Amino acid sequence: MTPPIKPGDWPFVGNTWAVRQLQQAVTRDELSHALLITGPDSVGKRALARILTAALLCQAPVEQRPCGTCLSCRKLESGNQPDFMLVEPEQKGKALVVKQIRDLERFLKLTPIESVCKIALVNDFEQANESAANALLKTLEEPPSHVRLILLALDADLVLPTIVSRSQQVNLRPTTPQKIAEALVARWDVEPETAQRLARLSGGRMGWAVRAATDPAHLETQTSALQLLFDLIRQDLPTRFEAAETLAKDSAQFAETLEYWRIAWRDVLLLQTEADDAVTYQEHRETLASLAQRQPLPATLALLKTLASAQAALRRYVNARLLAESLMLELPGLNFR
Ligand SMILES: [Zn+2]
Repeated sequence: MTPPIKPGDWPFVGNTWAVRQLQQAVTRDELSHALLITGPDSVGKRALARILTAALLCQAPVEQRPCGTCLSCRKLESGNQPDFMLVEPEQKGKALVVKQIRDLERFLKLTPIESVCKIALVNDFEQANESAANALLKTLEEPPSHVRLILLALDADLVLPTIVSRSQQVNLRPTTPQKIAEALVARWDVEPETAQRLARLSGGRMGWAVRAATDPAHLETQTSALQLLFDLIRQDLPTRFEAAETLAKDSAQFAETLEYWRIAWRDVLLLQTEADDAVTYQEHRETLASLAQRQPLPATLALLKTLASAQAALRRYVNARLLAESLMLELPGLNFR
């Protein structure tokens, strides 16, 4: 469910500076051939790229782009704008392969059909394997003037430096719960109380909040990830290793679980340092407080560090099973009730 776009309006929540910068580049026709949008999962990279694409291809006067009603805007909405191509891994968590980049290259070489430019959007670009990344680098070396390439990645560090240096970079950051809550109420018709709660649970990620508001299963994933964490603390190593095996099977889900665990452990730290108001998972406050009491502060800090490096390692395709198992060894066993 996406709300309609008003002419010239960029309905993007947070990161106002990035929106302004891109709007200006579109108006002045100064957008670089390659744009690299980075930021955490579900922070809004795709949403921003989508609005930018609509604005670039729109046929309305420049200050009204995207208009949402011209032929190009309508075709983009229904997925058949002939000057736009989306490239992404065939399955979430899988690699982008060289054949996909070659298809993209062929597409970009053609003359635009209905617009002034041809746009390729590459999602999850950090998952490009080496030959795919090198193939893309070739495209970037001498791009035809009508080409606009939008690359989305979790982090610029995960992209070939030679690609980063040829791209205009936009790094999106998590936004405030307040802005997220307001947007959920105004544009997604969410009840104010629910909006506040989802905004708090989102960790500043608008895309997460929208999914949680529109798909109850999404919120359940978070609840089960936290429950799993609390269960694991009470369990012995063989049981933990079984859980590790399950976790490692779906690396996208594993990454999301790690993010929830990191936020939970940050909550423990907040409780230990008496910054209780900032706790994200208020629903689990009792359990988190019990952890905070029983675990020394340095151990919490060490675990937060472990979780952050596990997140980074998972993005770099280490063996997910080994990673999950070593994490199981690091989790505390507190036997609390
Ligand atoms: Zn339009």
